[in-house]
Amino acid sequence: MFNLQYIRSQFPILQQQINGKPLVYFDNAATSQKPVSVIESWTKYYETLNANVHRGIHTLSQLATEEMELSRRKIQKFINAKHDYEVIFTRGTTESINLLAYALTQEIKAGDEIIISHLEHHSNIVPWQMLCERTGAKLKVIPMDENGILQLDFLDKHLNEKTKIVSVNHVSNALGILNPIEEIISKTRKNSGAFIVIDGAQSAPHFAIDVQRMDCDFFAFSGHKMYAPMGVGILYGKEDILRKIQPFHGGGEMIATCSFDGTTYADLPFKFEAGTPNVGGNIALGAAVDFIESIGHENIQNHENALLEYAQKKLLEIENLKIYGEKAKRTGVVSFTLEGAGIASDAGMILDKMGIAVRTGHHCTQPIMDYYKIAGTVRASFAVYNTFEEIDALAEGVKKAQRMLS
Ligand code: PMP
Repeated sequence: MFNLQYIRSQFPILQQQINGKPLVYFDNAATSQKPVSVIESWTKYYETLNANVHRGIHTLSQLATEEMELSRRKIQKFINAKHDYEVIFTRGTTESINLLAYALTQEIKAGDEIIISHLEHHSNIVPWQMLCERTGAKLKVIPMDENGILQLDFLDKHLNEKTKIVSVNHVSNALGILNPIEEIISKTRKNSGAFIVIDGAQSAPHFAIDVQRMDCDFFAFSGHKMYAPMGVGILYGKEDILRKIQPFHGGGEMIATCSFDGTTYADLPFKFEAGTPNVGGNIALGAAVDFIESIGHENIQNHENALLEYAQKKLLEIENLKIYGEKAKRTGVVSFTLEGAGIASDAGMILDKMGIAVRTGHHCTQPIMDYYKIAGTVRASFAVYNTFEEIDALAEGVKKAQRMLS
């Protein structure tokens, strides 16, 4: 059974007041709050297990290694990867995509093409631009329409044997749009041999992921957006490609043998995990997976969809409020501007005085803001612990901000 009150009680941070008002936390697309089980997993690691992994014969090192590898297997199951060694621990989505863009360098030559979409976060734009600069490849962009819907006929015209990478997000963090990745993947498979990369930072926290059914080659996401600590993330990759491509960082842990004459690389996943990992964080990511699974993906999605629908209804009652991507299929995010009421951050500051945390600005998606010719939006983004009463408070707060700013 879905027990919202119980879920909220698991988040110590939600029990406090901000600026004298109960905290209403609607900045979940920037980072989610952490339940006690995750916090306890982290502290338990430092209180009872802390040791470096994969290299010690002593008991603590072995226990820490076992816990971290158990977490890897939980994440494997969470995204339905075929093998645990296809799950690489990183610092987050940004590092996962940069790792990949570097690791694919030798697969790309001048004249090749990389396709992304207009709806990408900067971390799914800049690493590919850097790869283009290194190799002479060309970046192409799937356009969007006024509703934020990607124009997939672009793929019919532009996918060909020159296309080497197609990298798109599953859900837009700025607008909450659920992109048609099934169609993008099937078109890409049919018309090119490109590597398919999915940025799942905004989808992994909100619904069930099945990388095998999706048939992507890579899937990247961040722990901190799905109830885990900051500084941990995942890059999933298909075994045969991971074996073929070059490593990113060189150093300890990623070698099989090392001499001054040359080095051979360790097996997967360690080939891509140079240096001492964030062991406590990686273990706590496993605890976050347990937390999500204890509630159930379907329950989470139903609740968050109901919140979105309600928020949209309440906000649209407000005059001169424009929601971006209103007609597109969306999840977990509502992004809006208030016409004639200053810039987004003005409203954000007033809401903050009422204890309501929203994000304002370009949300690391400047091309989307450029498309709409705006500097930024106010973004309210939801998590499993948010309530309908909090949305009422948001709507009242927005009305008040509008009155003060008009
Ligand atoms: N892509 C998307 C869709 C995101 O929402 C985010 C985080 N806002 C990122 C990439 C970057 O993630 P991180 O900052 O955790 O590396």
